Amino acid sequence: MVTETERDGMTWYQCEVCGMLFDAREDATQHEDNCDAEDPSYIQ
Ligand SMILES: [Zn+2]
Repeated sequence: MVTETERDGMTWYQCEVCGMLFDAREDATQHEDNCDAEDPSYIQ
């Protein structure tokens, strides 16, 4: 699930799997869909 976080006066969208930040929710959601499948460390 993508979470919102405030940093430098801006709202960022963070991938909960790897912690990467995006400035657009759409980008974060799209990334996380792929991240889930490609990053097994989340499950370990
Ligand atoms: Zn990610």
